[in-house]
Amino acid sequence: PADEGLRAGPLVTPPPAAATGGSMIGIEKVSKWYGEFKVLTDCTTSVARGEVVVVCGPSGSGKSTLIKCVNALEPFQEGQITVDGTRVKDRGTNLPKLRARVGMVFQHFELFPHLSITDNLTIAQRKVLGRSGEDAKKRGLDLLERVGLSAHAKKFPGQLSGGQQQRVAIARALAMNPVVMLFDEPTSALDPEMVGEVLDVMVELARDGMTMMVVTHEMGFARKVADRVIFMDRGEIVEDAAKEDFFGQPRSERAQQFLSKIL
Ligand code: ADP
Ligand code: MG
Repeated sequence: PADEGLRAGPLVTPPPAAATGGSMIGIEKVSKWYGEFKVLTDCTTSVARGEVVVVCGPSGSGKSTLIKCVNALEPFQEGQITVDGTRVKDRGTNLPKLRARVGMVFQHFELFPHLSITDNLTIAQRKVLGRSGEDAKKRGLDLLERVGLSAHAKKFPGQLSGGQQQRVAIARALAMNPVVMLFDEPTSALDPEMVGEVLDVMVELARDGMTMMVVTHEMGFARKVADRVIFMDRGEIVEDAAKEDFFGQPRSERAQQFLSKIL
């Protein structure tokens, strides 16, 4: 019984949209250069509370850079990004505090290899949020159970499959009670048979009302849970459309070409 599958019940309990309102992520006219190279040009979009936005586009189009700007892992020279009302580019903004509220899951499950699964799940809760060891462990193990992996609490990352490690990485991010979750190609480094188990957790999370920005080429996932799809090319947001419109008939030729290659 190595893998128990997803547990019933919500992964998160976000505040009801009506009670809070407004956009959770606002990206306004963001431009970014790496030296002479302009990697993002005038990117503008927003993600409403509880909304799931899928970001797709060719390799090198700036998808990773854009979402790294959202949690200030990358600086940007022009424009502004706000997360839950907090300006990312502002001397007064406490960046560690902001990052603690933005969950991020990368392509390569970046668990701490020398720490047990339990310690991976609790270390940031204790060090960043100041939770007691007991509270952090309770929260971490509860989430581990929700992603179907409670039998693995005492193991180390290297003893888990890629799909299991990625589910731990999601649980670890959720343990911080983030207001938004960012995913950067969370399944593209996985063996095909493990993609489904990770997408299942993400589908669940979307249905629980988490605000999500997901870079992925898994168009099945996009069709199932995305509210909107953003298509990027050469650092620009070329298309930003409701899912039905994007898959029905993307307006731009570049998006049409992209879709015809991956579908
Ligand atoms: P994507 O995630 O869509 O594949 P990226 O955001 O990773 O694209 O990269 C966009 C472009 O920026 C690429 O041309 C890439 O080579 C370039 N780039 C990414 N990171 C750096 C960096 N640290 N320094 C210089 N160029 C970079
Ligand atoms: Mg990328």
